[in-house]
Amino acid sequence: MAHVSLKNVRKSFGATDVIKGVDLEIEDGEFTVFVGPSGCGKSTLLRMISGLEDISSGTLEIDGKVVNDIQPADRGIAMVFQSYAIFPHMTVRENMGFGLTIARASKAEKEAKVQEAARILQMEHLLDRRPSQLSGGQRQRVAIGRAIVRKPKVFLFDEPLSNLDAALRMDMRLEIGKLHQQLGASMIYVTHDQVEAMTLADKIVVLKDGEVQQVGSPMDLYHRPANRFVAGFLGSPK
Ligand code: ADP
Ligand code: MG
Repeated sequence: MAHVSLKNVRKSFGATDVIKGVDLEIEDGEFTVFVGPSGCGKSTLLRMISGLEDISSGTLEIDGKVVNDIQPADRGIAMVFQSYAIFPHMTVRENMGFGLTIARASKAEKEAKVQEAARILQMEHLLDRRPSQLSGGQRQRVAIGRAIVRKPKVFLFDEPLSNLDAALRMDMRLEIGKLHQQLGASMIYVTHDQVEAMTLADKIVVLKDGEVQQVGSPMDLYHRPANRFVAGFLGSPK
């Protein structure tokens, strides 16, 4: 579990300001969802928290420690991408264990952690398969397994379900909710799907053009949207 804090975080690519001064507190164990239209800066924000992208200015703290210059692997954070990013030539076991290769875990340690992740995701019987022998949902579970083996304090999900069909998306959404309860880790989840946001979130952060429009519980945002944009985006009556 971890507390993540952003203070006046900005990001520019060349002359283009993409993130324009974001202040945000994410509490220990909280399920936070970033929503907003395509191009509003959701992925950029997530990539900065993970360390994949530098912050142009401002401060990012994890558990009270400034991590602006700390390498991605040392932040206690794991990211799950939309495109799975699993290797076709590796088995499920190798793919899940890959997250530990960088951490230089011993073979036995690696196997134990992979077994544990496979148990959590109910994939123990699939460990020797390759991605081509898996369904879309199972492949996405492999990507989540790769994050679990690292026992991160914070999980980051960047539209993890957007490549799946509607029925599977609903199943996986429930699974991710369960996973959050089971692991108790902080999770930050990016989506442009209002239903996913409303059902998964403890806290929703609505973004537009690199700025936070409103932060609140799903019910807060639905019943008391701060402006027309939030109301329109979450489908509330205002
Ligand atoms: P979202 O995930 O909300 O769709 P992104 O964070 O991917 O949005 O992108 C926000 C904006 O930043 C977009 O206008 C995008 O074109 C721009 N952007 C993202 N990454 C780069 C980059 N590496 N170089 C230049 N512009 C970028
Ligand atoms: Mg994105």
